[in-house]
Amino acid sequence: MENLKLTKWKYAHNEETPRIRILSLDCGVDAKQNTLSKQALEELSKILDANLYHPPTAMVIKSSKSESFCAGMDVDEIREIVNDPSNLKLLLNRAHEILMKVRLATYPIIAVISGECLGGGLELALACHYRIVVDHPKTRLGLPETQLGIIPGFGGTQILPKVVGLQNAIRVIVGGKKLSAKEAKSIGLADMIVSPENSFSKLDLGDAILNHFLSVKRKLPWMDRLPFGKHFVCSMARKATMKATKGVYPAPMLALEAVCASSQPLEKGLNKERDLFIKAANTSEAKNLINLFSVRKEARTETPLEAKVYPLDYVGVIGAGVMGSTIAYAALTARKQVYLHDTYVPSIHKAVRFIEDELRREVKKGKMSKEKAEETRDRLTIGYGDIFHDRIGRCDVVIEAIVEDMAEKHKLFTKLEEFTRPGAILVTNTSSLLPSEIASVLKHPENFCAMHFFNPAHKMDLVEIAGTSRTDPETIAKVLNLTRAMGKTPVVLNKECVGLLVNRVMTQYLMQSIYYVSTIPNRPNLWMLDKAFEACGMVMGPFKTLDLIGFDTGAHVMKVMSEAYPKRLPNLSDFKIAEDKSTLGTKTGKGFYLWKNGKPIKPNYEFARWLDIFPYRKKTMDEANCVREIVLSKMKEEAMKMYDEGLASMDMIDLSLILGGGMMPNRRGVIGRVES
Ligand code: NAD
Repeated sequence: MENLKLTKWKYAHNEETPRIRILSLDCGVDAKQNTLSKQALEELSKILDANLYHPPTAMVIKSSKSESFCAGMDVDEIREIVNDPSNLKLLLNRAHEILMKVRLATYPIIAVISGECLGGGLELALACHYRIVVDHPKTRLGLPETQLGIIPGFGGTQILPKVVGLQNAIRVIVGGKKLSAKEAKSIGLADMIVSPENSFSKLDLGDAILNHFLSVKRKLPWMDRLPFGKHFVCSMARKATMKATKGVYPAPMLALEAVCASSQPLEKGLNKERDLFIKAANTSEAKNLINLFSVRKEARTETPLEAKVYPLDYVGVIGAGVMGSTIAYAALTARKQVYLHDTYVPSIHKAVRFIEDELRREVKKGKMSKEKAEETRDRLTIGYGDIFHDRIGRCDVVIEAIVEDMAEKHKLFTKLEEFTRPGAILVTNTSSLLPSEIASVLKHPENFCAMHFFNPAHKMDLVEIAGTSRTDPETIAKVLNLTRAMGKTPVVLNKECVGLLVNRVMTQYLMQSIYYVSTIPNRPNLWMLDKAFEACGMVMGPFKTLDLIGFDTGAHVMKVMSEAYPKRLPNLSDFKIAEDKSTLGTKTGKGFYLWKNGKPIKPNYEFARWLDIFPYRKKTMDEANCVREIVLSKMKEEAMKMYDEGLASMDMIDLSLILGGGMMPNRRGVIGRVES
């Protein structure tokens, strides 16, 4: 063993039981996550070969990082192999061969999993004979390859169903479900869970524990033991997957095909998985999704400004409505001290209830300990009425999320400058007002910028950041760091504009769609147009989106945007969308659709007739597809205009549109990939 030159693994003996070998994956201190590179696999192969003639009593495979067992293959390596199909078959065969050595070892190999164990990392753990999972809040086990347009390729689709049953495997592989330690134990993926305090260093891996593993018996659900049962599970899953992907994403269906082939002998099943992997990797969706992943990584890590580390530890949030409460929650979970203020007492009560409910939910799901939830809640201070609490003076940054009204925002910012400490950063979350106009009342506009969160802010990944011509670059650098600390993807605009990136293209999407279903002679009906957009990869059709935004808010934003871009948007001044106060979208349970439990149940024909946009002649999807293409061309034109204005690079514009507006990740956004 001493002769092996290992760069990705550390190899040791257990001090008390030297015949137990301990192998730790270690990608170095600079890497936040461990990844399973080709190099790591080849080194593993050599280690297993070296143990062939002097087998140990047992081998433990673990990680040197408590928060990352292994996050799977490095995405740059995935991109490289996907772009080189000639090598793909060889690489997959080689990976199968190496993991087969793990499976066929004559001694037990035990994976000890703490932190993220995803993709190839979980496939490595699945090749081991047993799995001990550490109940760490960061522990997640999953096979999320379909999110990159590919499928698990190192045996995951074949082994997981044999360990946890078909239905559970489909949930993890096709549904992309990531499991906590407890969830992994409940479906039999973990053979044992241990607490972080009792984690590996103190684990007794002597005879008792080995005997425990040797007695583990895997019992699959009865459905899996009957050919009819398996057939039934697969056919139901096919229907559900087709419905969920709307036929836009091939990978989940290909992954399902591989999982459903797992009752064959292993070698045949692995060949099937390999062929389906190659098929998935050759799709344009895979190339686009992998490229998108790299662009997002760039936005999350690259520093466009000379930013030193500027922690903004005390965050003020003014306005405790939909946005303020979710921004406050996101800041609290990023370990910030938070001061949340609203003039209206019921808003504050509602926000506190929301924050406490969310924390309780996290504890229930096993994602947060009870103590951590209490400590998080304790970092929240509230204030209400016209007078700020003293805490406002401690804030390093204050984020404004009050009503979208220039006069109200002016009053608030004037007051904020008076009560905050010198140098504190003041931020607006406006959707449609020009940041420099908001800042016109400030004595220190250098400390001001826009930070545009999306609804709900604790879940949505994107934050658009824009300074005015008077913003100090250090202000942007600090806000950029805050965004990253909150676990979000920042996109920094080179300059400001009304609506920033997403809302400019979103307004085109909504207003052009309304215009075409209400004016042209041969127009499709609006529900068909929604379907046409969803079939090309928009997460939600324009009319469903309007229902969710709410017609009052939507009408206001459309009006403001039309005033800012009168030549670029259609005139919809006759469109009386927000006049009927009982029909405002999901908030009233009816809009273009009738809604129940957050889901659209059926079209609301009555409302469309009232709006006079119901075409009585039966329409075909051709008309809807035709209108969709016209609207898409308007959206692309707007995106290119923003690029020409120098607001951001094409990559960052598309990234924003995908993360903030759900605009066609399969096509890599509205502009799409420029290189082939
Ligand atoms: P909201 O109506 O849900 O909440 C606004 C809150 O601000 C209310 O609780 C109100 O009582 C409070 N408020 C009003 N004036 C105040 C003042 N002077 N001081 C303190 N509190 C005050 O609105 P929202 O949807 O949360 O939007 C807030 C801001 O965020 C707006 O500028 C909006 O354009 C922007 N925004 C909204 C969304 C969205 O989808 N809702 C998305 C991004 C940005």
